[in-house]
Amino acid sequence: MNNFKKRNFVSAVVLFLVSSILFGCSAEQAGNNDVAESAPEPVEESKQNTVAMIDEQRINNADSEPGNWLAHGRNYEEHRFSPLTEINRETIGQLGLAWFKDMGTNRTLEATPIVVDGIMYLSSAWSKVYAIDAVTGEEIWFYDPKVPGAWARKSCCDVVNRGVAVYKGRVYVGSLDGFLIALDAATGEEVWRTDTLIDRSRDYTITGAPRAANGKVYIGNGGAERGVRGYASAFDAETGELVWRFYTVPGDPSKPFEHPEMELAAETWKGGEWWKIGGGGTVWNSIVYDPDFNHIYLGVGNGSPWTRAIRSPGGGDNLFLSSIVALDADSGKMKWYYQTTPGDNWDYTATQDMVLADLEVDGVDRKVLLQAPKNGFFYVLDRSNGELLRAHKYVNSTWATHVDMETGRPVENPEVDYIKEAHWILPGPIGGHNWQAMSYDKKTGLMYLPAMEVALSYGMDEEWEKTGSYEFTPNGLNVGIEVGRILEVVANAKGTPPKPKGILKAFNPLTGEQVWGVEQLHYWNGGVLATEGGLVFQGTALGEFNAHDIDTGETLWSFNAYTAFLAPPVSYQIDGVQYVALMAGTGGAELWTGDTGNLASLKYGNFGKLLVFKLDGKAELPPPTIIDRTIPEQPEISATEEELEQGYLLYHDVCSLCHGIGVRSGGVVKDLRLLTKDKHAMFKDIVLEGVLESIGMASFDDLLDEKDVENIQAYIVARANEDREAAAQNQSSEAGE
Ligand code: CA
Repeated sequence: MNNFKKRNFVSAVVLFLVSSILFGCSAEQAGNNDVAESAPEPVEESKQNTVAMIDEQRINNADSEPGNWLAHGRNYEEHRFSPLTEINRETIGQLGLAWFKDMGTNRTLEATPIVVDGIMYLSSAWSKVYAIDAVTGEEIWFYDPKVPGAWARKSCCDVVNRGVAVYKGRVYVGSLDGFLIALDAATGEEVWRTDTLIDRSRDYTITGAPRAANGKVYIGNGGAERGVRGYASAFDAETGELVWRFYTVPGDPSKPFEHPEMELAAETWKGGEWWKIGGGGTVWNSIVYDPDFNHIYLGVGNGSPWTRAIRSPGGGDNLFLSSIVALDADSGKMKWYYQTTPGDNWDYTATQDMVLADLEVDGVDRKVLLQAPKNGFFYVLDRSNGELLRAHKYVNSTWATHVDMETGRPVENPEVDYIKEAHWILPGPIGGHNWQAMSYDKKTGLMYLPAMEVALSYGMDEEWEKTGSYEFTPNGLNVGIEVGRILEVVANAKGTPPKPKGILKAFNPLTGEQVWGVEQLHYWNGGVLATEGGLVFQGTALGEFNAHDIDTGETLWSFNAYTAFLAPPVSYQIDGVQYVALMAGTGGAELWTGDTGNLASLKYGNFGKLLVFKLDGKAELPPPTIIDRTIPEQPEISATEEELEQGYLLYHDVCSLCHGIGVRSGGVVKDLRLLTKDKHAMFKDIVLEGVLESIGMASFDDLLDEKDVENIQAYIVARANEDREAAAQNQSSEAGE
């Protein structure tokens, strides 16, 4: 923070604190200009002790202060249900924009804002953190962890961050490059910074929100698409020292087990050399603290590589992939686990949000954990021992017919085994539900969740099919399915993929009943917030922020933000006024699929914003910019068929994850068909010298040589020319009509 801002902030804090401490009310209510002068002396000290002083007790009693949004899921149980009622089915028509903040980025925004005593704490792309006046939108402080631009390359799904934790006067953020950082909640100054990574040469990233409880801060990381070993860690909230670390998959068998649970896990990995690739099992999103049992639940991710035939050719369940693991919050010792997808073969992470609830199940009161992981089944587990109580399908899925309630295991469908032949399988790796938040109404027991039906054509890695061996690519994509030739796999896979769609659902986890469902044109929509006002809020891929009737799903209100949404809304109340806030700006895992039509980012770009609504809000967004997506004239590049083929393979192996399959981006990261001739003249410098590293386009000189880059460029130009000609033909045929 610069000195100017710091000074302004200190005086603002002094005024606010003095009035609230002395008079037990807000500065506005005090309405007294003399307050600042009658301030007691050691203001600095009281500031340190009062800003964002939230602890277990406050979060446990979150319902007693519904005006705040104290933790990632509002309460430790992560219900994400707001008890506020000023904005309701009757008043929703008056909802309008109170203010907005331009986030100054076109990269993906995924964070949940935390709101404590009038101040909003928010993370943005590149793990940057803001403290913002939650009434006016004025920035109080800003913190930039200065993530190196080159780290963007290590991320599967853009330079995202899903939020901060606020706890006892501090704000905690995990940075994309693997640090856990504690900030002073009053000033934004760094208090400590801890390296959470076990190996900085591997492609680890942190994108998830830390959780704080019990004097500790809990964090995991991502990277399973690129070859890492998963784990989660607890750090002392005060000092940043490591308290415990739990690995989710076994390491190198020639070395001792790090903790006893690894011995159990190692028995379930057979015949492969997974530790060289990493094994996966990253805990990149969901970590939940359970005050009832003093548990920490880890939502564990997919295998690395995805394919079990490469990872563990001798079979086995490959613990603790795709599992929910319960640990003692203080010691990190395992209490129980439940594996949703034994021997994961499809990128079926169990990293999705977990909700804790009290439910009567078959006449017995149970403390349960609810999760809708990627694999399409909605699980209800007993939190005391991990017992499986329910596993209903919440979307169409073809990989398994059902979950055997005796064994607790899914019954796989052998007809879509892709080991010999590529198959369309539901869900695809994007999941029946991904990290986008769901919302739980404890009165009805219904979950409001952003579900998807999107298949993928899975086919084994071509090299592995030919040779029976798989070569690990350090700092590259390591999924084990065929990516280089994905367009052929798409064209030839067995089965017919259903038309992809999103469905906002009201779902009963106990009965498996869908109470209502709203079908959506595009599947990649935002997180959900339900409220006591009888509303379910969600932003969509089309750039609309909608409010639905909680009983019927009927759309009661809609606001066009001209920017696609992924992030979840929150609600808070200050001085009697209820607000609904969320960030707009899409991307994430959709960078790979790229242009799937309908995305607002294709038409209007992806100008990230924080939007805050209230009744009778009168603010207006600037008019949207229509993005010119006309493909420019391309440079003359001559290449042989073979060179183009090489370029196609390399593009998909190395570039497509961010720039989109078939060189058709989703409007977030640069669409390379739109490169102008002057950018093409710099192509080698960009790809090999890293001249655009600061914006995340790092050098790929470890994976590509000059000839490779020429071939990739030739393929991009060929694709651009192909689509340019098609567009010209369309235009002339339209003109001829
Ligand atoms: Ca994954």
